[in-house]
Amino acid sequence: MGNFGRRLFLAGGSAAAGIGIGRWVLPASSSKGPAYPKFDSFAAAKGKILNDASQLEPTQIEKQVLINSDVDTVFIHRVRALLIEAREKKIPLMASTARHTMGGHSLPENGTALSLSQGSVKADPASKTYRVAAGTRWQTVIKELDRIGFSPVVMQSNNDFGVASTFSVNAHGWPAPCSPAGSTVRSLKMMIPDGTIQTCSRTQNVEFFRHAMGGYGLFGIILELELDMVANSRLEPKYEPMPGKDVGQALAEALKSGPTIQMAYGRLDVSLDRFFQQGMLITYRPTADQNNLPPAAGSSLISHVSRQIFRNQLESDFGKRVRWWTETSLGPELVGESTRNSLLNEPVITLDDNDPSRTDILQEYFVPPDRFPEFVTACQEVIPASYQQLLNVTVRYVDTDKDSVLAYAPEPRIASVMLFSQEMTERGEADMAWMTRRLIERVLAIGGSYYLPYRPHASVDQLKRAYPKAVEFAAFKRQIDKDMIFRNHFWDRYFAKL
Ligand SMILES: Cc1cc2nc3c(=O)[nH]c(=O)nc-3n(C[C@H](O)[C@H](O)[C@H](O)COP(=O)(O)OP(=O)(O)OC[C@H]3O[C@@H](n4cnc5c(N)ncnc54)[C@H](O)[C@@H]3O)c2cc1C
Repeated sequence: MGNFGRRLFLAGGSAAAGIGIGRWVLPASSSKGPAYPKFDSFAAAKGKILNDASQLEPTQIEKQVLINSDVDTVFIHRVRALLIEAREKKIPLMASTARHTMGGHSLPENGTALSLSQGSVKADPASKTYRVAAGTRWQTVIKELDRIGFSPVVMQSNNDFGVASTFSVNAHGWPAPCSPAGSTVRSLKMMIPDGTIQTCSRTQNVEFFRHAMGGYGLFGIILELELDMVANSRLEPKYEPMPGKDVGQALAEALKSGPTIQMAYGRLDVSLDRFFQQGMLITYRPTADQNNLPPAAGSSLISHVSRQIFRNQLESDFGKRVRWWTETSLGPELVGESTRNSLLNEPVITLDDNDPSRTDILQEYFVPPDRFPEFVTACQEVIPASYQQLLNVTVRYVDTDKDSVLAYAPEPRIASVMLFSQEMTERGEADMAWMTRRLIERVLAIGGSYYLPYRPHASVDQLKRAYPKAVEFAAFKRQIDKDMIFRNHFWDRYFAKL
């Protein structure tokens, strides 16, 4: 199917973003308002500054250590030495890979940032599992599994992220119907605060396993993981337009009654004059012919063309309408069959905005399927009242999370992944914080929750209400890491206060 077989607009929901990949140094202040105050003070600070994908978290660190070797004795020795050093110097240590979390979750202030960038994947087709070094990115996993006819079970909609990171945020994706990614991890090896390496799973060191899944690096450094894999397959899409408020329930119903659906997502129209009124459900099923699957493709020409249409939405309702028309009318004509691996193999960079005065910020909300219409109403009342530019919403189904302590889907949930383009100014940040807290309040009122890896705008009280086991989570952390070696902004801003 070639290029047209790929997703239009990174349809899986990649909410993808023009985020500051690899940009450590802060961009110049915006011409549209006063600079976000942190920028100047940090730019003047001595020492190394590390940022995350939000570009709003410049953080002074003591040092960054990059390791790209396989998990061997030298690797383990190096990681342990960093841990011992952190304890002796009383500085924090935090592991990360792509630093695409957006609230300093990967950043240890005045501490050691361990950046893992590995590439080891060892598959065992007999048990349908594979072992992977913690800092291996999904693009490497897809490449290796594709060669032997397999595919990841659950991953995010982009391939740049690290596998241990995915476990540490307990990410979800658009393969369906699936629980969050932690459910596909059988076991892992983790260096815990006392420097020993422990195997953690549903039967060994269970509490470490449950806390580290969605535990944002606070319980140890994951060294390697063992995950489930499924057969790769050729899939074809089906498009169903419908009112926006119906998308969540229609998605849940489609997955209940259509067991062959392998991937699924919904979309909502973000044009301001008909905000969330129209929607579209897209489901992917296996084709009759499953022979001779082509190798997993990378980002296609059509994805790059989509970028321009996507970015033209900024501050333009006409642009938003064009995008919606292209996706709902042109998309079904152009987008054909594709393999599961090709659909998953999309880098974040495809939709880069190339605009130093703005940053792309993600948010995600999870609500019970039958409360989705109320969620749509809440969004209609809250988001257009802000100054934020919402460029994309992708709707997904997340099945029950039976393992993690900080579960955002204690029962099946409809996830709405939103991509905003935010002005990098004080007013942009203040307005986003105001809008986010209002929306979280509305979501909590209908039994929902919000996703933790993004900007830290929720209040501590909102976090506690969204994650009822937050206090238990903090208590376990204090018990196993008395010296507070594994620390990041996320801990300092929230759990340190519980
Ligand atoms: C464009 C974009 C699209 C996204 N799409 C999705 C999506 O589809 N679904 C979804 O659920 N989320 C999504 N996210 C959120 C994303 O899943 C998280 O931000 C994820 O952490 C990114 O991986 P990373 O390698 O950048 O993580 P990092 O930011 O590098 O790390 C994330 C966390 O994991 C910890 N960690 C990393 N490695 C280790 C290790 N070896 N041991 C212990 N702790 C470790 C870090 O300390 C940090 O707390 C998206 C984010 C962006 C920016």
